[in-house]
Amino acid sequence: MAAAPLQNNPVPFIDLVAQYEPLAEETLAAVHRVFSEQKFILGEEVSDLEQEIAEYCTAPEAIGCSSGTDALILALMALNIGPGDEVITSPFTFFATGSSIHRVGAKPVFVDIDPVSYNIDPDKIEAAITPNTKAIMPVHIFGQCAEMDRINKIADRHNLFIVEDAAQAIGAEYRGRRAGTLGDIGCFSFFPTKNLGGAGDGGMLTTCSSELATRLKQLRVHGQTSVYYHQEVGLNARLDSLQAAILRVKLKSLDSWTEARQQNAACYEELFQHYDLNDIVVIPESNSQDRHVYNQYTVRVLEGRRDEILQSLRDQQIGAAVYYPVPLHLQPCFSYLEYQKGDLPESERASAEVLSLPIYAELVSSQLETVVRGISEAIAPGSTEGIARLYKDDQQQQRAA
Ligand SMILES: *Cc1c(COP(=O)(O)O)cnc(C)c1O
Repeated sequence: MAAAPLQNNPVPFIDLVAQYEPLAEETLAAVHRVFSEQKFILGEEVSDLEQEIAEYCTAPEAIGCSSGTDALILALMALNIGPGDEVITSPFTFFATGSSIHRVGAKPVFVDIDPVSYNIDPDKIEAAITPNTKAIMPVHIFGQCAEMDRINKIADRHNLFIVEDAAQAIGAEYRGRRAGTLGDIGCFSFFPTKNLGGAGDGGMLTTCSSELATRLKQLRVHGQTSVYYHQEVGLNARLDSLQAAILRVKLKSLDSWTEARQQNAACYEELFQHYDLNDIVVIPESNSQDRHVYNQYTVRVLEGRRDEILQSLRDQQIGAAVYYPVPLHLQPCFSYLEYQKGDLPESERASAEVLSLPIYAELVSSQLETVVRGISEAIAPGSTEGIARLYKDDQQQQRAA
């Protein structure tokens, strides 16, 4: 029996309009408050947000700044990391993780990922440590914390700093502890599509050290110790009051949004089972001990078919995206590091196989079903049986090879 052609309502990859609508009134009141005061940079809105984020992350100190990228740069500067130093990180991440290390004059050293969590593989870190290594920068990719107990042990043994790239992981927990408190400095982003997103660029640093907090606060304002007095050269990397005021409104919804993301992930799991796609689509695994905040819901499909599936989803007006198509060690701007294709095989394979699906809080279950049905259509219009067999054959061949 031929399946009737499906007429789906479009499912956008992200829908910030739907997120804004219920908060519009409160957001506009917050914007109005800032305009009435005409104080646009740092100030009380920012220090109030800093206090609220510190509480939310259970960190003693939080320091607002201009973006997640600048948070990473400020963190490295505050730890005196620069030319001659090496920082170990993951290549399977957003560009800024690697570029911040380069930007302070240090050398990014990329270590391959664990293929299940997509986070840096702790087993491979020690082999990359040299006398020049100063820090490890784990990325809590897609909203799930890296293996921080093991990473901290390695850092302790070799006397290294830890800078968490927690840009995708606000509220994520590792063994009951929140992202941003699992190393020396935590770095967050308020880019509009992050779990807590502003109306423009913004970022936050967290730390347990009051000395580091003081230094970070100086570094974000040209390195000044008091107005027009400079012990060192910093950045202009402050957070706007408007962003802070808007983020304070949104922060109150963050936990309910996170719960909705988790429910959507659970719903996807059932749907993939229901549509008998378990052999074809590898869904994300989350550790039940930890809190995954699902900035992305990222599945794997067979290499070579990913781009075809992505195109088919787009043709069906279903949003999907590839995070990230090129691992950082193979980016042209890092060719001076002399990595070759094949050096970090799990990261390269992930880049060829991953597909991120809509996961935002406002999705309804019929939309989730549209996405999964769309994947099943993309894989084999009408039937999934053939491709399921093909995929298993391929897996068996890979294992035999
Ligand atoms: C978004 C992101 C950043 C950079 O944040 P911006 O606020 O866009 O500068 C850094 N690292 C990761 C992993 C990110 O996802």
